[in-house]
Amino acid sequence: MNGVYIEITDVCNLHCSFCPSGKRWAESQEKGPDHSASSAQRIFLPSDIFERCLKEAAAVADQVYFHVLGEPTLHPGFGLFLKKLEQVSAARSDGKLLQLNLTTNGTTIARSGKAILASPAVRQVNFSTHAYAELPFDEAAENLQNVLDFCRMAAGSRPDLYINLRLWNVGDESSDAWNNYMLEQVNKVFGRINASGENSVANQNHVVGENRVPITLEHFCSRHKSFLVEGRIYIHQDSRFEWPDGSTSDATSTDSPSLNNLGSARPTYPKGTCRALDTHCAILHDGRVVACCLDHSGQITLGHIQENSLAEILSSPMATEIREGFANHELRHPFCQSCSFCKRFK
Ligand code: SF4
Ligand code: SF4
Repeated sequence: MNGVYIEITDVCNLHCSFCPSGKRWAESQEKGPDHSASSAQRIFLPSDIFERCLKEAAAVADQVYFHVLGEPTLHPGFGLFLKKLEQVSAARSDGKLLQLNLTTNGTTIARSGKAILASPAVRQVNFSTHAYAELPFDEAAENLQNVLDFCRMAAGSRPDLYINLRLWNVGDESSDAWNNYMLEQVNKVFGRINASGENSVANQNHVVGENRVPITLEHFCSRHKSFLVEGRIYIHQDSRFEWPDGSTSDATSTDSPSLNNLGSARPTYPKGTCRALDTHCAILHDGRVVACCLDHSGQITLGHIQENSLAEILSSPMATEIREGFANHELRHPFCQSCSFCKRFK
């Protein structure tokens, strides 16, 4: 397995309309102050469970993430968690590292950036800069500036660090203005401007990373998603994906038996596959182990990290059944049948 997603908190300081966290926030606002007070209760993974998650992750994977939903740098123990990660990584008996691919909305980077750059356990930082498209412009521009300042610092002090500036909203016209501005700033900061000072797509068929031409929206296409900016800093573009919520199964009642129906006649399942449980799994902020990083509400809860080892949970009958299904191009779990993300893996 490549990586384990450990959701150290489900709290986020942004409320993106396309994200379950943002939707939950919007619903609580509609229901009024009493409801929003109770739903605003913050949930942070306790330190002892985090340590257990890390040790369990180290037994099955080489990389961890600190999110499913939520903004990980808001966890009050974030700096301490980086230290714990370094310790667990150093204590591995197989000599391999356990490294963090951090995904953050970047809003705290001005204060959390120093600790991130100082931690050798951080391998990659992904900035969700598409989240700024829904913010007031001044706030968005300030966040972006802080992120780009961090990138400049990283280019000097941590040239080994991979950084992805994500624009995972391509195709959403309402985000075009922000995306254009964002790319313009990146081009300016990294000197990717034509001699005339104007953005140009004249060389768009060349490898833009090598030619140092400005990166523009016109370069984006479904087969070219990652653009080298400089060193190990990339723009990563993609279309927005739908979070599965279990409510829109592709299947009909006769061809989509739940896992509970197994055992009698050989059922048929909707076709599809996914890399979950092969390349990754996730642990939610309350210790529930789930199959993938999209299952933020525990629809495929395979076990609890407080009760069993991750290796045991990943070899449980349900995990085995789902994994075997993917290997045979069958979506055996009803939640997977509602997931459009797996359509990316034809
Ligand atoms: S920043 Fe990320 S976690 Fe926060 S609401 Fe937006 S998409 Fe969700
Ligand atoms: S098919 Fe979708 S819901 Fe099922 S494990 Fe894969 S990503 Fe998760």
